[in-house]
Amino acid sequence: MFFEWQGNQPVTLRCIDKNTETHDTVSIKLADLTESLLFQFKPGQFINLGVEIDGKMEFRAYSISSTNGEDYLQLTIKRVEGGKVSNYIVDSLLPGDTVQALPPTGDFNCIDHPPAT
Ligand SMILES: Cc1cc2nc3c(=O)[nH]c(=O)nc-3n(C[C@H](O)[C@H](O)[C@H](O)COP(=O)(O)OP(=O)(O)OC[C@H]3O[C@@H](n4cnc5c(N)ncnc54)[C@H](O)[C@@H]3O)c2cc1C
Repeated sequence: MFFEWQGNQPVTLRCIDKNTETHDTVSIKLADLTESLLFQFKPGQFINLGVEIDGKMEFRAYSISSTNGEDYLQLTIKRVEGGKVSNYIVDSLLPGDTVQALPPTGDFNCIDHPPAT
């Protein structure tokens, strides 16, 4: 049985997979702890992802790179020179680790702003 992601509170998600896309970019797949959450969003939306670094929760926005309605969420993150969260994710986040995530948001998406043709 699957549940929809609702509300405006962060949920705890677990990294279930991590793939290297290029020398400075990785994709991570996230699922909820019971793997019963269905991730519904509008293509083009993003989430605010929270990772704990040196005891402090840091949130950054990342666009969703998976398709709507899966039981996982994929994000694709590129290293930013000197950046705290992107470097942490590329270098240190591992499958099995947990993160915090706020529900999908963003008005600039393909449903609310469909292509003209
Ligand atoms: C809607 C949205 C969607 C996004 N989607 C994606 C996505 O899909 N993939 C993706 O990779 N990114 C995405 N981003 C960017 C992402 O949110 C982060 O901004 C990015 O990962 C950098 O975060 P960071 O913590 O690594 O860098 P930060 O630590 O925030 O640093 C950013 C820059 O500022 C510099 N800096 C930090 N502190 C200081 C200081 N005190 N003095 C001087 N310079 C400083 C750093 O060196 C670095 O160059 C998105 C952003 C938005 C707004």
